[in-house]
Amino acid sequence: MVKVLCVLYSGGKHAQEQPRLLGTIENKLGLEQYMKDNGHEFVVTDDKEGPNSVFAKEIVDAEVVITTPFHPGYLTKEIMATAKKLKLCITAGIGSDHIDLDAANEHKLTVAEVTGSNVVSVAEHVIMTILILVRNYNVGHEQVYRSKAWDVAAVAKDSYDLEGKVVGTIGAGRIGYRVLERLLPFNCKELLYYDYQDLPAEAAKKVGARRIEDIKEFLGACDVVTVNAPLHAGTKDLINEETIKYMKDGAWLINTARGAICNAEAVRKAVDSGKLRGYGGDVWNVQPAPADHPWREMSGPGGRGNAMTPHVSGTSIDAQERYAAGTKAIFDNWLAGKPQKPEDLITESGSYATKAYGNRVAQNQEAKK
Ligand code: NAD
Repeated sequence: MVKVLCVLYSGGKHAQEQPRLLGTIENKLGLEQYMKDNGHEFVVTDDKEGPNSVFAKEIVDAEVVITTPFHPGYLTKEIMATAKKLKLCITAGIGSDHIDLDAANEHKLTVAEVTGSNVVSVAEHVIMTILILVRNYNVGHEQVYRSKAWDVAAVAKDSYDLEGKVVGTIGAGRIGYRVLERLLPFNCKELLYYDYQDLPAEAAKKVGARRIEDIKEFLGACDVVTVNAPLHAGTKDLINEETIKYMKDGAWLINTARGAICNAEAVRKAVDSGKLRGYGGDVWNVQPAPADHPWREMSGPGGRGNAMTPHVSGTSIDAQERYAAGTKAIFDNWLAGKPQKPEDLITESGSYATKAYGNRVAQNQEAKK
């Protein structure tokens, strides 16, 4: 019998209206009955900020913590030091950067995420966001829906075809590759990727993607850049005032990976000035994003270029069912002492178990020498 602390977002009336909205404090990943039947203590909260939060108070004797990237319970080094019984951190979704992974290794915590659970959901959101920006959809929609106006030229002057454009992904893992696959029918001029790992030859051939190893060359070649890499020391602020200069004038930037990969002020300036024709995505460097976050207000000439949403791409109803089931599977494996699926493991027994967070497997080996 263990104590499990779970941080989810509040669903309010939406959770009543849609019982399949599993990632909410009301619907509790569908785990409430199961936890009760098995005698586990299951504390579920959305109160996660500061020393007086339920999260900070309840973690001190929890053995398992379940968090999501959508409403992240930030497992900092300091919080971890208070969590004397903690053994397992499950990310219900993908992306465990809200956990201090180096500290997790120091404490020999297992960090596992539900790998693959929402990769299709995110890839679809990326394709949608690319189209919204490239077609200048928002300006037209705003015109007819909010302003009750009709000005075709104002929309069309910044509306392009995706066909014939060069599109590149930073990170060609599960999501990045699915984005490339979904771009194939659009007859782009070229598909590129920037990653420190080569795609398997067969996979690269299937989508006809070319790897560029130099970030400046990569950014300079793309009309559309989509970011699909995890947040770690090597990707934080990767897109900043300096690197934006290497991008084509009028390029589009889409980031559904993690907000902090793109510098918020630098992106705002680039969109406002027209250097970038648009920026879109659903991830923010702090979540929930404050009301005065620069990405809420930014917009380029003619109101173009803002395709931001709250963090929703990976939390479609279909995705929630998959990451809820995956969370239970990880918990069950841990309880039964069974090995986790290797692809779900981020850290285990004091080491990184994945190459995706900055190739730290190599760093681990280096450190052990
Ligand atoms: P993945 O591990 O399959 O792929 C990540 C790829 O990024 C790997 O190929 C890795 O080599 C590459 N990479 C790592 N560091 C890099 C760097 N410095 N430069 C270039 N490439 C680098 O992961 P995935 O399933 O494709 O997910 C990627 C990320 O997307 C997650 O870590 C998460 O942060 C984010 N994500 C967001 C949502 C959402 O709802 N918005 C949902 C799921 C995942």
